Amino acid sequence: MNKAGKLSSDASEKGDLRMPAKVDMDKIVSLCKRRGLVFPSSEIYGGLASCWDYGPMGVELKRNVRDAWWKAIVHERDDVVGLDTSIMMHPGVWAASGHIDSFTDPLVECKSCHLRWRADAIEGKGCPKCGGELTEPRMFNLMFKTSMGPVEEEASTIYLRPETAQGIFVNFDNVITTSRKKLPLGIAQIGKSFRNEITTGNFIFRTREFEHMELEYFVKPGTDEKWLDYWVKERFDWYVKLGIRKENLRLRQHGKDELAHYARDCYDIDYLFPMGWSELEGIANRGDFDLIQHAKHSGKELGYYDAEADEKYVPYVIEPSAGVDRSVLAFLIDAYDEEEIEGEKRTLLHLHRDLAPIKVAVLPLSRNEKLTPLAKEVFNKLCPNFVTDYDDSQSIGRRYRRQDEIGTPFCVTIDFESLEDKQVTIRERDSLAQIRVPIEELDKILEAKLKGEAFDASPLWATREK
Ligand code: ATP
Repeated sequence: MNKAGKLSSDASEKGDLRMPAKVDMDKIVSLCKRRGLVFPSSEIYGGLASCWDYGPMGVELKRNVRDAWWKAIVHERDDVVGLDTSIMMHPGVWAASGHIDSFTDPLVECKSCHLRWRADAIEGKGCPKCGGELTEPRMFNLMFKTSMGPVEEEASTIYLRPETAQGIFVNFDNVITTSRKKLPLGIAQIGKSFRNEITTGNFIFRTREFEHMELEYFVKPGTDEKWLDYWVKERFDWYVKLGIRKENLRLRQHGKDELAHYARDCYDIDYLFPMGWSELEGIANRGDFDLIQHAKHSGKELGYYDAEADEKYVPYVIEPSAGVDRSVLAFLIDAYDEEEIEGEKRTLLHLHRDLAPIKVAVLPLSRNEKLTPLAKEVFNKLCPNFVTDYDDSQSIGRRYRRQDEIGTPFCVTIDFESLEDKQVTIRERDSLAQIRVPIEELDKILEAKLKGEAFDASPLWATREK
């Protein structure tokens, strides 16, 4: 949550014209539709504003983003554990966290066309659509309300969570007492969040239903500044490691007037989206605000006893909070490329191998009764180990292009020679280099390449795709 006191938060979304992004959003939206990454929600009914569905390729890409985060944050460390809490929580949680009072944006409505706008995200005095007069701003709570149980009465009003963080804070004691871990300790969660945003848009950048990847890292007060610096660096490096170019990322510290009510300090990692620099992830020092608030409102003590030092304290918390969907968008934009090969345009995604929806495509040179059994055999051998696609429709050139467009790092081609010599060709997406390898060793070779081993461009067997 970063609403309160953040009145000019979206200035950058209107477009920072200093450094125009190299690809416009329409190209990304169209590629996503064409190749089964992202579809408009309920499309056959005309769609639903700001809601999107992930198609067969998109669901793989999104899973890979989540998995890469979980691996880096939970599995590769011994000081972070995972959690999965419910979307609907006791309403007291949101009173304690400040969401009921402060999770608001200033809303204005056009008196002639009745469109609603976020007061802080528009320029000038009139309606951006028709120029009409706007109402005075009123604060609009962004939480979705619903009612629990069959009777819609005040007592049963609950909210869909606008962040996953609160599920972590209210379980702090459960985790500390059952995990037998010492501080500093992180608790991580990935899950859906809901915000009734006034202004949505820019494809999956800002939607009303989205997925959060949040870490609450509990530390001893006094060590919080050091840990904030640590996590800012870790998170920045994560995007770079997964292929985002450094020059398209920047760090921005929040000014004092911009900090949310719970934050002592906060940095945004911004990405250069086509509409300008905009937030990709926020990393905040939340101090002891949340544990103190929940202790006060629930009546349960929430603190930590350090047995070695025989001392008791309420931990401070450092929170890196990222959006899965917004990360997917940044990875797609950064990976997008168009090049010309021998007079023909090639569109490709230079996605990092860990993120690519399909790792290997098995492509028989043509749909032919002699080739099919061997090609199927190769596919069956690979698919238990790698996400593998089998495609024998249309020309081989077209099939390569299709795989390039979804960022498949390796294509394996089976040709008539393969029937004789039991070898196949591996083609690498970015360099277009090809190597011929024995089917026997295919698994092992692909595994090494998918772990980052250089693609062997040995002149003996490497050629460039004609
Ligand atoms: P913004 O200023 O863009 O509204 P925020 O500062 O309120 O975002 P946080 O509460 O810090 O966002 O959430 C952390 C991350 O969750 C954001 O950096 C973004 O990646 C993602 N996120 C937040 N709101 C949305 C949304 N409406 N749609 C998609 N992703 C979102």
